Amino acid sequence: MAIRKPMVAGNWKMNGSKELVQQLSDAINNVKSDQIDVVVFPPYPLLPMLTATGVTTGAQTVSENEPGAFTGEVDAQLIKDLGCQYTLVGHSERRSIYGESNDTVAAKFARAQQVGLTPILCVGESEEQREQGQTELVVAAQIDAVIDKLGLAALKDSVIAYEPVWAIGTGKTASPEQAQHVHKFIRDKIAANSSDLAQGLTILYGGSVNEKNSELLFAQPDIDGGLIGGASLKAELFTAICESA
Ligand code: PEP
Repeated sequence: MAIRKPMVAGNWKMNGSKELVQQLSDAINNVKSDQIDVVVFPPYPLLPMLTATGVTTGAQTVSENEPGAFTGEVDAQLIKDLGCQYTLVGHSERRSIYGESNDTVAAKFARAQQVGLTPILCVGESEEQREQGQTELVVAAQIDAVIDKLGLAALKDSVIAYEPVWAIGTGKTASPEQAQHVHKFIRDKIAANSSDLAQGLTILYGGSVNEKNSELLFAQPDIDGGLIGGASLKAELFTAICESA
């Protein structure tokens, strides 16, 4: 029996256009059902248009601050007011290119929940960290930054996405066994303090998921769906991935 509803999320990154919204929205609306949550994260300017089509949407990041003098930043409340339900926090590109620390990511997580958005907390190790046997250490520290700031219960209204950095946009997917190992580690870590919370927590895998590898990944007991980058930009690939969840 599936205890958690599967979710497939598409991260368009800095890609997309009004034409892409028109091309993809029907296909996305047709694939969503009571059995699966489908969420799309387009660039900010496309959020109103995509949300108006009925697709469930989220921001790729939000500011950790309340409204004020933060040129170029976007307030989480504004995202919520546009009708979005989710935001990514701590995507590896935000961490590595824009220097977001675990503390900053935890602050963004807090601000998202404060306004009623569901944060999807992205965690994952670099290739070097994996080679040095630090995967669990790194992932635990990324999750603990949120727990230390907000308490364990904050994870109840959130989603975690395990995305090994070496697998994002590289075509190198984690094997189902490698991914399941880390997903189980995350669930066990939370279960050590609350079994109910751990059993209810949606944990997505991300990193070069495509229509060929998604079925085996999603069949793992602790993998509840995927966060999809490149393959979310093509209707036939994204819907095939959704159908395999
Ligand atoms: C991502 O951007 O979160 C991602 C997983 O990208 P890709 O699927 O292209 O590896």
